Formats: sequence, C-alpha cells, structure tokens
Amino acid sequence: MKPKLLGMSLLQLQEVAADLSLPKYAAGQMADWLYAKGIREISGMTNLSISARKALEERFRIGHTPYSEKFTSSDGTKKYVFPTSIEGRYIETVMIPEYEGNEGTEKSRATICISSQVGCRMNCSFCMTGRSGYYGQLTAAEIISQFMNIDETQELTNAVFMGMGEPLDNWDEVSKALRILTSDWGFGWSPRRITLSTIGVLPTLKNFLDDSRCHLAVSLHNPFDEERSAMMPVQRAFKIEDVISLIRRYDFTGQRRVSFEYIMFSGVNDTKRHADALIKMLFGLECRINLIRFHEIPDSSLRSSPRSRIDDFKARLNNAGIITTLRASRGEDIMAACGLLAGKER
Ligand code: SF4
Repeated sequence: MKPKLLGMSLLQLQEVAADLSLPKYAAGQMADWLYAKGIREISGMTNLSISARKALEERFRIGHTPYSEKFTSSDGTKKYVFPTSIEGRYIETVMIPEYEGNEGTEKSRATICISSQVGCRMNCSFCMTGRSGYYGQLTAAEIISQFMNIDETQELTNAVFMGMGEPLDNWDEVSKALRILTSDWGFGWSPRRITLSTIGVLPTLKNFLDDSRCHLAVSLHNPFDEERSAMMPVQRAFKIEDVISLIRRYDFTGQRRVSFEYIMFSGVNDTKRHADALIKMLFGLECRINLIRFHEIPDSSLRSSPRSRIDDFKARLNNAGIITTLRASRGEDIMAACGLLAGKER
C-alpha cells in the first residue's frame, strides 16, 4: 500500500515536495486540497502540473477511510463505525447534535466525539472501551479521516477527543491531528472549538498544555487515592493530585478552559465526603465540573447514583463556588453514550 498524504503536516508535505523536486509552495497547495477542499483523488489537485500529480500518484494515495456502518439514536445522536488498519478491528465516532429549540429545528451545535486509539490500555473499570482491550494506535490520518468522513462534517462546530482510547497515550499522532485541525494550512479551527479529554497521563499532559491552546477535560471520578486507584489504574502511575498541581501552573482564567468529568456511581463516589474532598482539591482553580450519569455495562456491579443524590452533590459543589452541571446523556440507545463505545469485532 502506498503511504497516505492525509495526516501529513505542512512540514511533511514540504519534504514530499522537495523529494519530488516540486517548488516549496506546492506543499501549501497540497495541504489546501487535502484539508480545506477535502479532495479524494490526487488527480483533482488541478493547480499542480500534470507531471507533479503523476509523480505524487506513483508514490502516494490520499488515504480516506469511509465509515462502514452508521446508527442513529432517537435523540438524533449518530454513531459511525470505521475500519482501521488493524485487521478486523473497528473504531467508533459519535456526532452529537444540539438544537436551539426542539429536535428537528435548526442545529445550534454539532460536536464530533473522536477516537484516538483502537481500544485502550488504561483499564478503567467502568468503561466498555477499556474492557474490550487494546489493539494499537490510530494514525493522524485515521484520526483526521473520522472528522472528514461523517455525513455532518460540513456542519461541525466542535470536536472532543472523548471517544475510544486515551488521547495522551497516543500523543504523537493526536498532536499531529490537533495541528491539522487548528493550523491555517489545515482546517483553521480555533482551539477553543476543541476539547481533549484525559484521565491524566502526566508526561504528555505537559506536552499538550505547552503545545496546544485547546480546552482540557480531566476524568477525575474520585478524589481519594486508594478509591481512584481501584477504578482507574492510572492513579498508581500518575496521581490526580500531581495532575492538578501541573494544571495549576497554566492559565485557565482567559479563553482556555479546564473542566473535570465526574461519573456518579451509586455508593462509590457520591457522598458528602467525596464532594468536600473535591472542593478542597480544586480550591481556587478556575474550572467547572461536569457530572455524568453512569451508563451501566454488562458484568459490572456499578450502578448510577439516583437523581436526588446527583442533585445534592451538584448543589454542594455549586454552593462552594465550583460551577457544576449534569451532562445530558446522549445516544444511549445506540451504545454511543459516555463509556459505552466498544468498537466490537464485526
Ligand atoms: S475511560 Fe478512557 S482511559 Fe479509561 S479505559 Fe475508557 S477509554 Fe481508556
């Protein structure tokens, strides 16, 4: 298989241009065709000479991956299934529409939830992706291809890296994809339209905070060391206290935002003791907390906290001055909601 042009940075395209003895500006033209114009065939790069297109075609392909299946939820959420370069393994990508008024009226937002790995090796006990195992990394091309190959690509207003996988466990490829999304030679999106979600992989979290201006969401889920370790093995390697100390060194008082995701598990992390520890842990940090109802998964004794306990927890945090919301659950009927993506073998 020829290598893909999709997923290449401007610098890489300049190297391609140099190798083929094309002028340097041809790299900018290729980037424009690849990303802004979304062309599917090298022959369509009509401002490159015929001989340049031929030379490119001999060595490269564009490299889009169309989806193989699509599911639509009763709430309008869509789940797309994409094949990957790993034989027999699939990833899932979700598009979440939000409407000004009732469903069926004009969309006010359309958010794509992007996968960054084929499975995940972080083993969080409450997550179907973690349960399904780890099969490999996605390339920048496969990440960008999700963005460019859903039916709503032209309508997208926001992107979140909250699909399958831990994006900071694939930083090389995810950082390339972020650069393509936010550079003028790529899609030219403002980093304020993009959120990366992590469970707190410290070394690459620092890279993300230094190299990007995108928003950050941290999956916190429990403020106590022992309890968090039991749910999220990452805590044994990178403590959430250290993650928060690092975050405190960056400025989140302006346009860039940090939020903390907190799935509510009945009798596990939903007591006053947990709320008070959270308040203490996040004291003075400009942030918000998103509470999430737990979506039950097979063979697990974990249950979602009842609504009244979620409301009490939320009120306690809000009263302490931390803006706290309960995130609406979307796409549950098509297994597209938080924690339910599995990318089953098909
Ligand atoms: S919650 Fe995120 S990091 Fe944890 S297993 Fe699932 S996909 Fe991986």
